[in-house]
Amino acid sequence: TKYIVVSGGVVSGIGKGVIASSTGLLLKTTGLRVTSIKIDPYMNIDAGTMRPQEHGEVYVLNDGGEVDLDLGNYERYLNVTLSRDNNITTGKIYREVIEKERQGKYLGKTVQIVPHVTNEIQDWIERVSKVPVDESGEEPDVCIVELGGTVGDIESAPFVEAMRQFQFRVGHDNFALIHVSLVPDMHGEQKTKPTQTTVHSLRGLGLLPDIIACRVLVPQPLSTATKEKISMFCHVPPAQVLGVHDLSSVYHVPLLLRDQGIVTFLRKRLNLDSIPNSLLSQ
Ligand code: ADP
Repeated sequence: TKYIVVSGGVVSGIGKGVIASSTGLLLKTTGLRVTSIKIDPYMNIDAGTMRPQEHGEVYVLNDGGEVDLDLGNYERYLNVTLSRDNNITTGKIYREVIEKERQGKYLGKTVQIVPHVTNEIQDWIERVSKVPVDESGEEPDVCIVELGGTVGDIESAPFVEAMRQFQFRVGHDNFALIHVSLVPDMHGEQKTKPTQTTVHSLRGLGLLPDIIACRVLVPQPLSTATKEKISMFCHVPPAQVLGVHDLSSVYHVPLLLRDQGIVTFLRKRLNLDSIPNSLLSQ
């Protein structure tokens, strides 16, 4: 399985979920089977107990799982049926670890965030990414892992560390990272400093972005000059800095990403042509 992790920086709610689902959709159009996992770094077991005014509508899956609305995006964009296990929360991971501790499964060891919680996160992702999600009943080729929250939060730290370890567990050819950042537009001037800062802290945590998706919250696209500046200061080639401006419909986001070469890049980066289902290999 190939893993594409989508993390976020600066602020949440800028369209990370839409960028993650759009990437999945584009890969699906190349013939690959795509599944997804959403990580919500909160202590609630699921969104079922969360006030909709605060959290947004709760999305109910076929197995009765009450989850974040992002799972609904994935089901619609990817035409798949997900289960409650496709939504990981801090609460679910801790419950699992504490139950194992009570059963004596850690053989007397001191149970810690690293390695026990971080291992549990990695095992969960590996296990769920292999569960068939469409009528073919076959194992997915690609798993999109959306990491909720922003990098640098205390809340998401165990997940970020788990992802850092995971890139070695699955190998470089099977792991790519898309970091979604905010590029504020100040009276027509696009500012790169928040992106520089968030990429800097991401690197400090041991994660190197393959793609920086820059969300511009106005209808003007990311300028070439801004792209080049981010490329230089964030140490990522310009072709891997993508702009996502405000569009009239979120269903246009896949085309915007495709036109900037995301499929071509991921195809090479993850060696997607080697997958039998890939239409690109024919
Ligand atoms: P996050 O996952 O970062 O919290 P979402 O993907 O849920 O963010 O998106 C937040 C909101 O922004 C949603 O209502 C979505 O429809 C809207 N949105 C996302 N991307 C765009 C875009 N490119 N243009 C316009 N609206 C967008």
